[in-house]
Amino acid sequence: MATRKLPPYYEKQERNELHFAVCPACNNPVQIIGLNKRLQHTDRPYAKHYHKSIVGLAVFNKEAFESCSLAHPRKNLSKDDRKPICTDRERQILLSLQENFDQVAYLFQLYSGIVMTPHLAKQMLEWFVAEQGHLYRGGSLINAPWVFVYLSRAQSLWGRKIKDAELQEVLSKKVPTGSINENGQFITKGQEKVFFWFANHKQGKSTDNDLKETMDFFVTCDEKDIFNKTITFDYELFQRLINTPVEKRTYKETFTELAQKYLG
Ligand SMILES: [Zn+2]
Repeated sequence: MATRKLPPYYEKQERNELHFAVCPACNNPVQIIGLNKRLQHTDRPYAKHYHKSIVGLAVFNKEAFESCSLAHPRKNLSKDDRKPICTDRERQILLSLQENFDQVAYLFQLYSGIVMTPHLAKQMLEWFVAEQGHLYRGGSLINAPWVFVYLSRAQSLWGRKIKDAELQEVLSKKVPTGSINENGQFITKGQEKVFFWFANHKQGKSTDNDLKETMDFFVTCDEKDIFNKTITFDYELFQRLINTPVEKRTYKETFTELAQKYLG
């Protein structure tokens, strides 16, 4: 239906019908296997990187293919590892963050339980720019919203609005003078230093042989771990969010304007 059997998405060879698309992570051409014919080894069609350019669709880029997380998940990623040069793909990451920063903020709130304020967004954006986050070796177009906060340094939780009930409870019980005030903000009466941060970004394969990426979320009180959880990147959710028309989004201009100012 989507290709209407027309080029550049479709090519008829003697006995075969080839269907093409573009890899969402590296922008190389991919061939869709098992679209019309049921496969013996799996009941789902899947995409395989195609090592030639397809006119009108995508140019094959070997370097991009070799660093594609969907083709080659990286087991050992270091937070400080940067790509040596900025190509179109890294520029696209910056552009996607700018255009969809309201949804990046929404996602952050969803998986961390902490409300993203313009002030926090500004701190994270400054850090991302200073750290050249778009060149992070484990970054791609599909994981940009997670990598964006992953690369941020530890941030104080004092005065932040907490949405997640479990985190609210931990902060009230495990921080000696900690409580949640009537506005839902975390406060302390004492001197405890409470921070949140992210670590251990990992890429691997899921049981379905898809890419699976995770990172760990930590909350510490005076350097003692009081809360942690593993966050699995949900690419489909991010795609759905960025395909939501602007007028239907919860957060609007404030965040996108901030992102344009720092990343533009
Ligand atoms: Zn790829």
